[in-house]
Amino acid sequence: MEKHVPHGCPPRVLLFPFSEQGHVNPFLKLAELLGLGGVHVTFLSTYYIHNRLLLHSDVQSRFKTYPGFIFKAISDGLPDDHPRSGEKSYEFFKALNVVTKKLLKHMLASDELGSDISPSVTCIIADGLLAEFTTNIATELHIPIIHFHVISACAVWALFSIPNLIENGELPIRGKEDMDKLVTGVPSMEGLLRFRDLPSFCRTSDVKDPILQGIARESRQCTRAQGLILNTFEELEGPILSHLRTHCPNVYPIGPKHTHLKLKLAKKEVISVQSTNSLFKTDRSCMAWLDAQPLKSVMYASFGSVAVLTRDELIEFWYGLVNSKKRFLWVIRPDFYKQGDDAKDVLAELLEGTKERGYLVGWAPQEEVLEHPAVGGFLTHSGWNSTMESAVAGVPMICWPRRADQQVNSRYVSEVWKIGLDMKDVSDRKVVEKMVNEVMVERREELVNAADEMCKLAVKSVSEGGSSHCNFDRLIEDIYKMNKKPCMKSETNEYVVDEL
Ligand code: UDP
Repeated sequence: MEKHVPHGCPPRVLLFPFSEQGHVNPFLKLAELLGLGGVHVTFLSTYYIHNRLLLHSDVQSRFKTYPGFIFKAISDGLPDDHPRSGEKSYEFFKALNVVTKKLLKHMLASDELGSDISPSVTCIIADGLLAEFTTNIATELHIPIIHFHVISACAVWALFSIPNLIENGELPIRGKEDMDKLVTGVPSMEGLLRFRDLPSFCRTSDVKDPILQGIARESRQCTRAQGLILNTFEELEGPILSHLRTHCPNVYPIGPKHTHLKLKLAKKEVISVQSTNSLFKTDRSCMAWLDAQPLKSVMYASFGSVAVLTRDELIEFWYGLVNSKKRFLWVIRPDFYKQGDDAKDVLAELLEGTKERGYLVGWAPQEEVLEHPAVGGFLTHSGWNSTMESAVAGVPMICWPRRADQQVNSRYVSEVWKIGLDMKDVSDRKVVEKMVNEVMVERREELVNAADEMCKLAVKSVSEGGSSHCNFDRLIEDIYKMNKKPCMKSETNEYVVDEL
């Protein structure tokens, strides 16, 4: 049956993030930025994510203020208790490519993702990790598609170069003894990137490994899209962006997204009070604890939303932090230790001994924590969101990368941007203690100066006339151009949350 399409529909963009906190968070920020630009947004996530967002975040009330905003959920075909990450991530990708793909195509073809005033999706913005099947669907249905990679441009470029590395024989990595040798097959990173700095997927002995092959394929899909959005800025990753542009001409670096959004909200005089995009229950008690600590005295430690530590790693970090004699705030998620380990008991014992200087939470309001005057350093896993949040807050880092893009990010933090130290592949209490002291005392001035400089550049890029600000304006213009129907901004305030 032919649908009645009202004249003058605003553009409707479908945002479809990968199912992890580090993807959902920047996608929600993008949703708000687009909403402020008058674009109607449908935010589609798997039920697994959708339910956790409704439980732990304030998205439901916050997005009511955005005209035409719709939350929708889609099945990933897996039972609720499936971990969807770690060793089981391949099953997850497979399920998405089979179950979700079919459902998504149906939803788009039957206009289930729109509203009365903007019934059809006029542009898809899909996660770079879900690029292949979403681009196939978009091509079939003749809907323009833009990819959004939530990782750094340098990591995207390293992933993009995987086929070169296989072709020139640098992958598979020959052995542990080669880890400190320099890689030659990633253009513009010669002399910088060692084998241990390559994305973690490259640490396989079999180049036919389905995860490595899958990631390489997904990252090359940007050449088929109408554009590529990145949460970075020209002044930070200009040379790498130039390389990317030789393959994907239409790149929109619009970050740091959280700062970009904050400035735009402030301009509209929208005060966002303690807003959160969290999939975990946030423990805000650490803010009062921080209030009681001296200026720049606290090392904040958090390894993001996915990283899992072994018992030994947990203990080494604990002793390293304690022996440094510095104050620390440590995020220990309930799922932070490897299954079967008795780390919980060990932790209780250690906790008792360190009440004086340490504070633990299950999940912190990280952006606020990093901006707190008491925080002087960040022990991080180098997730890209964490890296950007720390850089903008002017907080130097100790990097302990775990997986995916993090190995590349930490190399850039220490060797290119010089706003932190890289502790890659080491988890020894003595090294932790030494690095905490370097960041908090010995090399403090040099690192803080570099971080402050970075912070200034970041703020400039998202301010009126700055590079990210202009790139975002261009993105909005392009989205309006993709809308084949004449545009008319809606004054109504429709909001729909799918009944579960
Ligand atoms: N985060 C948070 N509270 C925490 C730990 C992390 O709000 O206690 C947020 C953090 O601000 C960031 C995201 O979770 O926006 C983690 O993303 P990142 O890319 O750093 O790492 P990932 O979780 O993807 O490994």
